[in-house]
Amino acid sequence: MLSVILPAYNEEKMIALAARTISGILRDAGIGYEILFVDDGSRDMTWKEICRASEEDPGVVGLHFSRNFGKEAAMFAGLEKARGDCVVVLDCDLQHPPEKIVEMYRLWEQGYEVVEGIKEDRGEESGLHRFAAGSFYKLISRATGMDMEASSDFKLLDRKVVDTLNRMPERNVFFRALSFWVGFKKAEVSYRVQERTAGESKWSTRALIRYAITNIGSFSSAPLQMITILGFVMLAVSLVFGVISLVQKLTGQALGGFTTVIILLLFSSSLIMISLGIIGYYMARIYEEIKGRPRYIISEIRRGGKKES
Ligand code: UDP
Ligand code: MG
Repeated sequence: MLSVILPAYNEEKMIALAARTISGILRDAGIGYEILFVDDGSRDMTWKEICRASEEDPGVVGLHFSRNFGKEAAMFAGLEKARGDCVVVLDCDLQHPPEKIVEMYRLWEQGYEVVEGIKEDRGEESGLHRFAAGSFYKLISRATGMDMEASSDFKLLDRKVVDTLNRMPERNVFFRALSFWVGFKKAEVSYRVQERTAGESKWSTRALIRYAITNIGSFSSAPLQMITILGFVMLAVSLVFGVISLVQKLTGQALGGFTTVIILLLFSSSLIMISLGIIGYYMARIYEEIKGRPRYIISEIRRGGKKES
């Protein structure tokens, strides 16, 4: 059986369409399935729609979060509750073309354990956005040692991989990078990002920046190492200025240089502040992990139109 996981946040217009499209495609292909909608604490009628879909199709399962925990948490909740021999994760706005699921499934039948959906193009994005996304992926690619530029959350994972991911103890998870990091036998399927047909994107620029920082923090300690490098740069600079001021002192030309002192003071203290901030950020992350709170809280599960506890 194949489990299809669809994280949904305020997607009332997409639920019925997604359920029907995906079940139609899988039924035509003769693939046994369950469709797991994870309602990430939506404020609209998403949960009602999911309940209705599960009454219509016993293969539809609904998980309801007690509040919005974010897409990563929603995907991991789906992975934990999925019962299939393999699992596909895709967006419920159908921007990941569901026809490709069949292609992925056939590759899985040939023995591949991870089938990556690779974006053919990134769609239309502004210059600044592209630059920011580019640097983000460069950092993450360096941290995972794999090229993540064209990767997405659209993936098929074998049961073995899902179990491995479920055993990961960390609270702050980054699905895309973790599924690279675990390894396993990989295949790729390329797809074209579709236009959203209804509803709107849930990502504001602020949310995207927060997402990038969180994921860099959970996958890379490069910012901490940068502090050390900065420290050495400052040391070199201060050596040069130290020699200069010593020479001035010895040749009796001291006194000037007040501006230099002020600039150096301001510069180094701001560097120290930034460094403390970065260290503080990582400390906060350690604190979060150590508290060991659950990644998400499920308030209701619906299987085959019935409540399950
Ligand atoms: N999503 C979610 N929780 C959130 C934000 C988004 O589960 O807090 C889901 C959303 O319902 C959709 C997917 O993540 O299925 C991708 O979101 P969206 O289409 O808004 O992102 P974009 O395609 O614009 O990157
Ligand atoms: Mg989308």
